[in-house]
Amino acid sequence: MAALGYIVLISILALGLLALLMLIVTSVSMRKGRFYLPRLLRPGLIILEGLAKTLWRVSNLDDREVVSFSIRLHNQLNRERFSRLAMEDRMIFLPQCLRSIECPSNLSTEGLVCKRCMRCDIGRSIDELEGHGCRVCVVPGSTFVKRLVKKYRPKGIVGVGCLMEVKEGLEMTDRMDLPAMGVVTTKDGCIETTLDWPTLIEVATLRPAE
Ligand code: SF4
Repeated sequence: MAALGYIVLISILALGLLALLMLIVTSVSMRKGRFYLPRLLRPGLIILEGLAKTLWRVSNLDDREVVSFSIRLHNQLNRERFSRLAMEDRMIFLPQCLRSIECPSNLSTEGLVCKRCMRCDIGRSIDELEGHGCRVCVVPGSTFVKRLVKKYRPKGIVGVGCLMEVKEGLEMTDRMDLPAMGVVTTKDGCIETTLDWPTLIEVATLRPAE
């Protein structure tokens, strides 16, 4: 009985030490802007996110900083696998909040069908993205993403959205075992949000490092 008690105690101590190590590595990586031990960082971030609200007084970390770091880490970890995919196997999901408030398009089962009226940058950029061979969908939310992924079976995804949307989207694609890259909008909100389009095109057309 005593031996069992020791085993449990040692296991708890070992887990505690591992959690502490993950927290330290994650915090140092965030502060330095570099990914140390990236495989350890992903579980470290899950712990850190839960503790962020408590920790921020001590460490000056805020929720947005943790989420933003988590997205960059996901992108870093998925980058190589995603970059090896053929363009035809990639799907780009744009949020409908990027469209003009005067958008004449209607919602279909495939999302918003852009009429290229050029009132917003979707019309200007969608053809360029599709010209590279990938499929582009403008969607109102994750339900559409799930349905369209099921229908078209892409091997990789680029998801655009606000910080929390991208974070949740990356977690969803992790569960689907799809390599996904997140691109965060440059202005949040529900209408006429903005995006750094050259960054999106750069991410969508990533190639493996030589
Ligand atoms: S370019 Fe497309 S998405 Fe943008 S407002 Fe016009 S129809 Fe809507």
